[in-house]
Amino acid sequence: MTLKIPLSDVDLDGEEIEAVTRVVQSGWLSMGPVTEAFEEAFARYVGVRHAFGVSSCTAALHLAHRIAGITAGDEVIAPSLTFVATTNSILYCGGTPVFADICGRDDFNISPEAIERQITDRTKAITIVHYGGYPCAMDEILEIARDRDVMLIEDAAHAIGAEYRGKKCGSFGDVGCFSFFANKNLATGEGGMIVTDDDRLAGQIQVLRSHGMTTMTWDRHRGHAFSYDVLDLGYNYRLNELAAALGIVQLGKLRRNNEKRAGIVREYRRRLAELPGVSSPFERHSGGSAHHLFPVLLPEGVSRASVMERMREKGIQTSIHYPPIHHFSYYKKMFGLREGALPQTEHVGGHELTLPLYPGMQTGDLDVIIDRLACCLGEETAGGTPP
Ligand SMILES: *Cc1c(COP(=O)(O)O)cnc(C)c1O
Repeated sequence: MTLKIPLSDVDLDGEEIEAVTRVVQSGWLSMGPVTEAFEEAFARYVGVRHAFGVSSCTAALHLAHRIAGITAGDEVIAPSLTFVATTNSILYCGGTPVFADICGRDDFNISPEAIERQITDRTKAITIVHYGGYPCAMDEILEIARDRDVMLIEDAAHAIGAEYRGKKCGSFGDVGCFSFFANKNLATGEGGMIVTDDDRLAGQIQVLRSHGMTTMTWDRHRGHAFSYDVLDLGYNYRLNELAAALGIVQLGKLRRNNEKRAGIVREYRRRLAELPGVSSPFERHSGGSAHHLFPVLLPEGVSRASVMERMREKGIQTSIHYPPIHHFSYYKKMFGLREGALPQTEHVGGHELTLPLYPGMQTGDLDVIIDRLACCLGEETAGGTPP
């Protein structure tokens, strides 16, 4: 069946079609001038010295942990309530993710106190995620990273355009990583960006992104170089010109679309009063969110699976952000964290439901979602069998 209200939706129109067409007509598809223009615009937008287009946020996170020097025996503190790529990228480097709990039911971001508790002599980096686009407690986290002299990596996949005290997320850490996957606030299908203010780290990123090579195809095409050396074990993590062309247009729409998301979230929060027992985190957050997700917590005793199934019957897609990483088979096999090790993360992992949120959502869609959810919950708590 077709979904009437998907979880997320892209905002694409004639502008993107024109931009991609121009790339096709130019005859240059791999990383080149359009990617350079996108990187410049992105660096300016986030307020950093360097931005490098990459094939995904996962690639950006891998590069970030590589340049943080993570190898076997190094520990990286990270949340478990995130997409698995956040910590897979630590494992790619041979490092060990050490999970820190989230703040609680009102704040799904990593807790600064929990980070402090997990620091050891082997801690080499802290990797944070701005959950749903809500900035983490950056004052406290930056202080810990400075005091302990460890690298700070921001997984800003949800937080394009998010701000904390007037400064953009992704610009706080030594390195910031962004995703342009199809369901993110800025979508190019696949793609990402890695940003830094540090010239030395920027040099390493540039080399590692493209096989460790000293020059690129585009340089040689322009006659800027005839050969190359290989300086390090690099990867092919380049962005392509079609994605970059989409990215430039999408970046231009970002402010307006993030404002639309904020408006929908305000309306969601107002209408939550109609859903007894349902809460939403970040209600008292000081603001600056990119509003990537709208998460709620279902009351105790309600079957989330049956709510999701019954929402789907009405064409409403919902999701879970996230099944905690430490519960996945692979991570259990590797680390075997006991049940209850991260109580807040586990509670949220068990009760969270993500409702649809995208810039093109209409008030009528929101009515349908809230009414249906109220109906599901009424029947769930009444214990009756659904019609
Ligand atoms: C989407 C996402 C990623 C991965 O992004 P890709 O561009 O798909 O590799 C990483 N971290 C978080 C928190 C995400 O939501």
